[in-house]
Amino acid sequence: MKRKVLLIITSFVFLILTFAPIQLFSQEYKWFKGNTHTHTINSDGDSPPRVVVRWYRDHGYNFLMITDHNFVTEIKYIDTDKNDDFILIYGEEVTDSYKKTPVHLNCFGTGVYVSPQKGNSVIETLQRNIDAIRKAGGVPQINHPNWHWAFNDNEMKVLKNCKLFEIFNPGCNYFGGLDTPSMEKVWDSILTAGVVMYGMAVDDMHKLATDTGKGWVMVKAKELTTEAILNALENGQFYASNGVTIDEWNVTPEKYEIKIKGKSDWKYVTRFIGEGGKLLKKDGSLNPVYRFNGTEKYVRAVVMDSNGNFAWLQPYFIKK
Ligand SMILES: [Zn+2]
Ligand SMILES: [Zn+2]
Repeated sequence: MKRKVLLIITSFVFLILTFAPIQLFSQEYKWFKGNTHTHTINSDGDSPPRVVVRWYRDHGYNFLMITDHNFVTEIKYIDTDKNDDFILIYGEEVTDSYKKTPVHLNCFGTGVYVSPQKGNSVIETLQRNIDAIRKAGGVPQINHPNWHWAFNDNEMKVLKNCKLFEIFNPGCNYFGGLDTPSMEKVWDSILTAGVVMYGMAVDDMHKLATDTGKGWVMVKAKELTTEAILNALENGQFYASNGVTIDEWNVTPEKYEIKIKGKSDWKYVTRFIGEGGKLLKKDGSLNPVYRFNGTEKYVRAVVMDSNGNFAWLQPYFIKK
């Protein structure tokens, strides 16, 4: 009995010492809505940059990355109003392939063009493009792994220096198939391997009339600047959504807590997930909480509403 108590106390102290809490409830932080994957007539989109930007600005977004295929769309002449609570962040979809397998990565935050790097395997192609994006001063995001079933956790869990990938891109096989993993399964396999990657939801907008408002991220940052948004993304201080809104989200040494903005009559189920994709807890309330017991490797949460929309909240690792 004594030994058990001691063990509990020791693991609790251990948890406090090794867990970096995220103080997202702090008043200093605000939510900023953004889409990080957008095309214009500068590649295969159907609308001019100004028209695309106006749509996102007019629909409550705070930031947008225009990511044309192998082209950096100039933003400085479009983003002229400094006081409209909306910023453009430089972007490009570095559009590469290995044989017939598409390998697409977004590059954020630099106006420097990054050409597709090519490689002798899918893994090498991914890594060489990640390295080139970093070298150019950009932040990389791995796009639509399940599109054309291009690659999955086998390739992604050996990559270095990339924190962001698309958990949701409309029409890109989120649920997988019988013989191919869902994006959630891919994510848990990567996280279980000890590789920290955060899930993004995006529009991958090509047609303005039909492709907008399908997937987005809500970033918790102190201010609306390129640097603050990209830092928050790379630190996992955001959630991805295709319809569910989270009011607050906080991770302390004791618990992982969420407050869902519920719609009247809709129901919400939150799944807390750990190592190996194991279901740690299901919670049907609007204030789901998971209390750590010290044995978890990581904990993440997914909220699904009764109409099939999701919010994907980022994993937090408990170092042991
Ligand atoms: Zn693409
Ligand atoms: Zn695209």
